Amino acid sequence: MRKPIIAGNWKMNNTVTETLTLLKEITSLDLDKEVEKVVVVPFTSAYSAVDLLKDSDIKVGCQNMYYEESGAYTGEISPLMLNDLGIEYVIIGHSERREIFGEDDNLINNKVISALKHNINPILCCGETLEERENNKQEEKVRNQLINDLKDVSAEDITKVVIAYEPIWAIGTGKTASSNDAEEMCKFIRNLLKELYNEELAEKVRIQYGGSVKPNNVSEIMEKENIDGALVGGASLKADNYAALVNFR
Ligand code: PGA
Repeated sequence: MRKPIIAGNWKMNNTVTETLTLLKEITSLDLDKEVEKVVVVPFTSAYSAVDLLKDSDIKVGCQNMYYEESGAYTGEISPLMLNDLGIEYVIIGHSERREIFGEDDNLINNKVISALKHNINPILCCGETLEERENNKQEEKVRNQLINDLKDVSAEDITKVVIAYEPIWAIGTGKTASSNDAEEMCKFIRNLLKELYNEELAEKVRIQYGGSVKPNNVSEIMEKENIDGALVGGASLKADNYAALVNFR
């Protein structure tokens, strides 16, 4: 029922020239048409990526945005600017933004609301630190994050949000959560959505796992009932790996 969604989060990698080279390689490969495919590129590559991918079914996302439409916000990018380029997804609340750039739940909530208002689908990230996991606080952490980050998101809009569960200790470390641990948390998130919205809507929301997903573990993760996709950093930067992730079946 839920269409699988594989998103490559390029992070701060690839110049425009490198972007075009990588995307040309990706589009030359056979990619599963039944899987929704997204490349989440740096702002500087967004225009070129949308242009190169205009005849393909690969969508382009960005990794952040501010919530105001315009104004005196030096260094920021607005939803109108992303819309104008044809950006369909935006990652919001990635743990690197939360931890390195001090984004809090209130800011993240404003960004989620603004993205939805401008018809950009948020990929909202949540997840616990290693310390929280060791103290069995992962559910409490993710629950608090999502309750705050989804505040005032309407029933009509919640199905446009993709939630990415990304345990911080698994990001870029080569340590993946076991597929059972990942499923347990994604199920926990779905149950929380049932509580915040209702069963029918919760069943429609797509939940991704992220954190050291690679071609050799993607199938096992994607087999799980409550995992509908993957948000992939490092392994999405090579064309053959990206294709292998998309073609997980
Ligand atoms: P990783 O990153 O796949 O390199 O662990 C995932 C992410 O941060 O989205």
